[in-house]
Amino acid sequence: MSSSSEVARGAVCGDLCSQGRMKTLLIEEKRKMGGQCATTSELENYPGIIEDTGPGLMERFRSHAEKFGVEFERGRVAGIEVGDDGFHKEIRLADERTLRTKSIIIATGAAPRILGIPGEKEFRGQGVSYCATCDADFYEELDVVVVGSGNTAVEESVFLTKVVNKVTMIVVHDEGKLDADRVAQEQAFANDKIEFVWNSTVDAIEGDGLVNGVRLRNIKTGETQQLATDGVFMFVGTVPQTGFAKDLIELNGAGYIKTDDKQQTNIPGIFAVGDVTDKFLRQVVTAAGDGAVAAVAANGYVEQEEYWQQQVLKSQTPVLAVFWSPLEGDSVQLIQSLEEMTIAYPDHRIVTVDTYKNQMLADRYEVQEIPAVLRFEQGQEQLRLVQPGAVELNQLFQGSKS
Ligand SMILES: Cc1cc2nc3c(=O)[nH]c(=O)nc-3n(C[C@H](O)[C@H](O)[C@H](O)COP(=O)(O)OP(=O)(O)OC[C@H]3O[C@@H](n4cnc5c(N)ncnc54)[C@H](O)[C@@H]3O)c2cc1C
Repeated sequence: MSSSSEVARGAVCGDLCSQGRMKTLLIEEKRKMGGQCATTSELENYPGIIEDTGPGLMERFRSHAEKFGVEFERGRVAGIEVGDDGFHKEIRLADERTLRTKSIIIATGAAPRILGIPGEKEFRGQGVSYCATCDADFYEELDVVVVGSGNTAVEESVFLTKVVNKVTMIVVHDEGKLDADRVAQEQAFANDKIEFVWNSTVDAIEGDGLVNGVRLRNIKTGETQQLATDGVFMFVGTVPQTGFAKDLIELNGAGYIKTDDKQQTNIPGIFAVGDVTDKFLRQVVTAAGDGAVAAVAANGYVEQEEYWQQQVLKSQTPVLAVFWSPLEGDSVQLIQSLEEMTIAYPDHRIVTVDTYKNQMLADRYEVQEIPAVLRFEQGQEQLRLVQPGAVELNQLFQGSKS
């Protein structure tokens, strides 16, 4: 049985890896699973789920993964490395434990952006919050401030109004302009428990043990004002959690992981899914879709790589690796000829690599034209012939160019 390890939530990945009979471990740093999704009170846009809470859906993701035998480990991934054989990978946890695996799916998502204003760190958990679902109950019948104007800020403000006395949204834009989509905006404007302070930012969060106010600045006039409040909810965006991978994995300018259409990163066998990736839409449904793709791709990677290791790199006898396409006449003819010749050279093994299905191996050995035959001895490439003619084929069995 092959082994695979994935980082963070990716319950869908877990299901598929297990169905593919891959041993799958899910590593999560927090005690409570579910990532950002578990912090939202209402989830209405996952297919088949008319209405649910984020934690509710995440609980079902977890049960589904458990059913297929996914194992769970608590720990914070601090680094990942690729072994000398290029196949095995090592995951280093913050508590110094190390885990060895053949494929990794990174699903470390994103975390709330920290504004870094005075009082934000000091009062975190004492009136400063990044999660309405988690903390709303502490503010029953009290007044709170929400910083931000995107979808998350607006949706969480509407949720907060079910519990608190009043929400004041601090918005940097001109009056009437929010970053949220139209439906969310309409909900916010129609809610008489939500007030707005336009063209403004929060310069500082103030209090005495607990938050009791914010200092606001009008970005147009420069005027400042104090606003009394019992709590501050910050929804000013998120940052990808890629610090542990930044020396190995290719990121875009904003720190998100670049992937191809199989969710593979620049490192073969390391995949990335969900909010941590460079993508157009960051939602539960797209994260799950990425997970399905990555799980199948990781399964294929491990199977192909194990086959290559056993049949070619660890072979005690010479191997002729034919990079070919079953759709191409020359390729088919070449394989037939080589197979016939193995009658005279029974100690040689023929291994075929369909370059459409296994572009990764073709890239690794820089095979640009097919058919190409690479002769391996003791795991090392000894000879390569591209589009060989009938007279050259003997060289491949004799191991040298005449
Ligand atoms: C308030 C809010 C409301 C939302 N509402 C909706 C909605 O209604 N519909 C919708 O489709 N989407 C919604 N989203 C977006 C949705 O939650 C995300 O798109 C989704 O959670 C992304 O999943 P993910 O697995 O990629 O990342 P995340 O959910 O961010 O999960 C990442 C996980 O990785 C863990 N982790 C991070 N670093 C490490 C490490 N080094 N080692 C170990 N573990 C680590 C984290 O603890 C976390 O559990 C909302 C998001 C928020 C914040």
